[in-house]
Amino acid sequence: MRKIVILGSTGSIGRQALEIISAHPDKFEVIALAAGGASYQELAEQANRFKVPIVGAVTNGEKIGALTKARVIDGAKASSEIAAISCDLVLNAITGSIGLGATISALSNGNKVALANKESLVAGGELVTQWGRENIFPVDSEHSALAQVMRAGSESEIRKLILTASGGPFRERDDLAKVTIKDALAHPTWAMGPVVTINSATLVNKGLEIIEAHHLFGVGYEKIEAVIHPQSVIHSMVEFIDGSTIAQASPPSMKGPIGYALNQGERLDSVMNPIDWSKSHSWNFSPIDHHKFPAVELALRAGKLGTAATAIYNAANEEAVAAFLAGKISFTAIVDTVEKVLSRGERNSFTPIRDLADVTAIEQDARIMANELLSR
Ligand code: MG
Repeated sequence: MRKIVILGSTGSIGRQALEIISAHPDKFEVIALAAGGASYQELAEQANRFKVPIVGAVTNGEKIGALTKARVIDGAKASSEIAAISCDLVLNAITGSIGLGATISALSNGNKVALANKESLVAGGELVTQWGRENIFPVDSEHSALAQVMRAGSESEIRKLILTASGGPFRERDDLAKVTIKDALAHPTWAMGPVVTINSATLVNKGLEIIEAHHLFGVGYEKIEAVIHPQSVIHSMVEFIDGSTIAQASPPSMKGPIGYALNQGERLDSVMNPIDWSKSHSWNFSPIDHHKFPAVELALRAGKLGTAATAIYNAANEEAVAAFLAGKISFTAIVDTVEKVLSRGERNSFTPIRDLADVTAIEQDARIMANELLSR
């Protein structure tokens, strides 16, 4: 029986993880939950349904306390405190670099982490991997695919990691400056939260995932590529030194990667539907149009500059996405803003990162700079 702690339990990944746990009651026991608290009724309902003794919530702690017998820890540090509870695995499904503190808290207290919070690696880099890559199980579908495919060969046999990208809803659209919020929130193959959906539309998500892959697998940026694959069935590939490429394929569903991470890289029975070979399928691949979608090359540029730069890339993007969702800026202004903030950082040279406070300071500067540009 694996004792599981879930952070971000009321989000898309958290809910699906609870569904998997419900289907495998002989394998998993939920011992703590945490979430922001906006969906406090759902959080309390989850705590009651899974008989969870401790719940963390950033806000609405009192309201949750009234709805459940669980002990409630509330406030800004709730997720980090819950992440430190001794368990077999912490699933970090918080969205945004706000999830970094909880990842570090979990790992530094000896817990393994199923990481759906890619921003932890983008903003924290070595602060996270210093606790051992073997203690991190990726939940991102691409990285889960890479982890699965890497079982086919040794590290020295790897020539290249190839991440697939759906290309988002605007792959074939040319007037990107005119994209509305509604257009951008309609993703063709994946159902996700609003920030991840916008990041998929700009391809910033793929940029973040390249940085994530670099840290998760210790592979140099020169060996990581991305390719457009609109069907989202091949979740990523590894090219080996002999010229062979191995891919992981399954219909788009996060259940597979969540289950694989929850069970620490051992497969669970019937977690998702396999490909139906009684039907015809066509899988397409095409290179990314970097002129139209500069976010991927920008991420590689940041990655080669180091973690301070990738933290800036992410923080500036978080601010720009919020401004886009608030109707303040155009779609193309999102990545333009990230580029400008990163360039300014480059001119001033980057401070090295020693601890979480350094990351917070770097992010704060980037957010202020982004908002200055965004309000013009
Ligand atoms: Mg992904």
